[in-house]
Amino acid sequence: MDSIGRIGNQKPASKVGVFLDRDGVINEERSDYVKNWEEFRFLPGALQAIASLTKAGFRVFVISNQSAINRGLASLEEVEEIHRRMNKEIERAGGVIEAILYCPHTPEENCECRKPRPGLLKRGAKTYGLELERSYLVGDKLSDIGAGQAAGCHCVLVQTGIRGTQLASAEKSNPGNYRLCRDISEAAAWILQIEGENSRSTIRSAHGGSSVD
Ligand SMILES: [Mg+2]
Ligand SMILES: [Zn+2]
Repeated sequence: MDSIGRIGNQKPASKVGVFLDRDGVINEERSDYVKNWEEFRFLPGALQAIASLTKAGFRVFVISNQSAINRGLASLEEVEEIHRRMNKEIERAGGVIEAILYCPHTPEENCECRKPRPGLLKRGAKTYGLELERSYLVGDKLSDIGAGQAAGCHCVLVQTGIRGTQLASAEKSNPGNYRLCRDISEAAAWILQIEGENSRSTIRSAHGGSSVD
């Protein structure tokens, strides 16, 4: 009989990724940047939300603009240390972040990876074998949504960043082509629900029904 480990290894990796922005989604955003682990505070429900995505089989990634690096406010080592300790807490809660992709550049450097450009998402898709059209992006800024839309992802805007409430009222007067959620918990619940509906419609279409998109 195969061990559970062998069956696990033989299962093909999912091509559906969930890309989470960091500051304002996973942890509290600061107007003066999160520069070290002492300044890092998980938002309520974030650890459980990431664990719920992992347990449902999603491959979870973080994509983050970290211009504090090239502004000279945080060193690469400090940022890597934040990510090491963040991952440790997430794993302790039952979640897995497969990779953290971040842009160290300032806006003036005009790079391809700083959101709203889709460079980080495209790099992630290529490196980890993901289908962006089937993947999700969760962010707290319209620049996150811009990157997600340019890459063809399903996008969720959460209201837990510094400008969260302003964004929510703008959304009400001018709804965009993305889902508005209160926070990462609501975003994760929505993604789980959509994927559940997708897999049910795939089963239906495999039996001769029409697929619902
Ligand atoms: Mg953010
Ligand atoms: Zn960049």
